[in-house]
Amino acid sequence: MQYRKFGSTGVNISTLGFGCMRFPSIEGTQDIDEEKTVPMLRRAYELGVNYFDSAFFYCNGNSEVVLGKAVKPFRDKINISTKIPVSRVGATSDYRSYLEKSLKKLDTDYIDFYHFWSINKQMFDDVMLKYDLLNEALKAKEEGLIKHISFSFHGDPNDLEYIIAKAPMLETMLIQYNILDRSNEKGIEYVASTGRGVVAMGPVGGGRLAAPTELADKIGSVSAKATYELALRFVLGNPNISCALSGMRSTEEVEKNAKVMSSDIPFTEKENAEIRESLEDLKKFSDLYCTGCRYCMPCVKNIDIPQIFYLYTLYNVYGLKDHAKALYKKYREDIEKDGKEGLVTSCVECGACEKKCPQKLQIREKLKLVHSVLS
Ligand code: SF4
Ligand code: SF4
Repeated sequence: MQYRKFGSTGVNISTLGFGCMRFPSIEGTQDIDEEKTVPMLRRAYELGVNYFDSAFFYCNGNSEVVLGKAVKPFRDKINISTKIPVSRVGATSDYRSYLEKSLKKLDTDYIDFYHFWSINKQMFDDVMLKYDLLNEALKAKEEGLIKHISFSFHGDPNDLEYIIAKAPMLETMLIQYNILDRSNEKGIEYVASTGRGVVAMGPVGGGRLAAPTELADKIGSVSAKATYELALRFVLGNPNISCALSGMRSTEEVEKNAKVMSSDIPFTEKENAEIRESLEDLKKFSDLYCTGCRYCMPCVKNIDIPQIFYLYTLYNVYGLKDHAKALYKKYREDIEKDGKEGLVTSCVECGACEKKCPQKLQIREKLKLVHSVLS
């Protein structure tokens, strides 16, 4: 495993971070399958991963619990990152209340990197400043309950300068960045230039690049054998990124990713140039760029928006046309059989989903497109 300096925090973190938002669940339930998850997390530690990223609501609120249990034997050797749901804060005291709940769920005395979760300028002004949450964070840091004050960002990268100027105590940032979506590249460069650490989320494009595709071949002579390798090494090819988070779901995936991060990264200059040139050819990959974050859910008509967009990815990006159509047919049949809502055709165009989508997708329009393509 390779390690990088994490801004000015004095901490060196592994270039591969464990995103704890997609733990495997027990079949037919939404409960985390601990028998699979705990060994997977411990294997990651054995392979050198020292940065584990959770959030208060991941996995129905149980991600922190299982993470805490898994890392208990080596708690002091790793960094736990988790997040306060800023959008749910309605009073200054909520900061301490969420922090105490997270500490309890994680069964730990301190959190290494405590993030203000999924902020943008509006949330920064209307919640963080309004309720004096930065001061609460400083107090928690003084008491040793958190080691570092962090934030995850889902806003306009042009607002980062404003946020950092108003909140110099913010030490690290978590932000979307991958080979298909480099829109935050300037913002990342700015934040890193101020001495702050940056972690990339979505390095394999919400999983779309983790599946077998011919993308690595299409990039030309770059020495990446598989697309997930290309995607990870591309992200770490950016010297402003300390760590790429991957929401791994199996021990096999952990081992595969750890192997990539132990190899010779970043890409050479020549390889980087080739990749950037080839990106033009990949535009079709991005015409419906859904990361599967599920922030758009629930839909008032119970339409599983991320699942439907995933089927479109299977069709359009991976070329698995028949498979995608068959899965879409099954999706519709299951809904009809149960007499529930959830068909794309039942969308009432309320627009609630679009307001919550960090990728600013025109969800209503795209749902119609996917329905017409897959029907
Ligand atoms: S616009 Fe359609 S898909 Fe979006 S929340 Fe409303 S009903 Fe659901
Ligand atoms: S449509 Fe937007 S909010 Fe919903 S899962 Fe995709 S990226 Fe996330």
